[in-house]
Amino acid sequence: MIIVIMGPPGAGKGTQAKILASKFNLLHLSTGEILRNEIDKGSKLGLKAKKFMDQGNLVPDKLVLEMIEKIILTNQGEGFIFDGFPRTVPQSEGLDSLLGRLKLKIDYVLNISLDKSVLVKRLVERAKNSGRSDDSEEVIMNRQDVYEELTKPLIDYYHDEVKEINGDGTVEEVSKRIFSQINQ
Ligand code: AMP
Repeated sequence: MIIVIMGPPGAGKGTQAKILASKFNLLHLSTGEILRNEIDKGSKLGLKAKKFMDQGNLVPDKLVLEMIEKIILTNQGEGFIFDGFPRTVPQSEGLDSLLGRLKLKIDYVLNISLDKSVLVKRLVERAKNSGRSDDSEEVIMNRQDVYEELTKPLIDYYHDEVKEINGDGTVEEVSKRIFSQINQ
């Protein structure tokens, strides 16, 4: 099974992706986490990505697509949940083309929605303990703007396939809403 989980920063994608990965035995691919690991390792990719991430801007599509392609090709046969990817229309097109070549397809596109005021409040709260260099208030606001401009159009890109999930409530409540959309 292949799932794409979308939603603005702070909607709870990462938390729900972890739960889904363990329930359905999927490889959890969080591009944000993978990129933060690359930065920690001091790799070439990490060095290139850091300057974009620190500002809350997106890492160039080409770098992200190459990184994802490598991971998918070395883990063929696995199910995947993509968290924070794709984030732009060219990334979606790149993913479609790669999956097409491998005769695979996305089974579910989940979109978690939440009011912007709640999102910003959650992220400011998370920033107190996260240690993430992109969790300052200014960068948080930029990440929301980047989402609106570049990532929200993916809802139209996937249109009919998108399952809308209300992200308001406890982790368990949101998980229940997601499970009810997945036929297993
Ligand atoms: P996240 O952990 O998903 O909030 O991602 C943190 C940061 O990593 C983002 O603000 C971007 O700078 C970068 N990033 C993560 N995923 C992607 C992606 N698919 N495309 C471009 N940049 C990304």
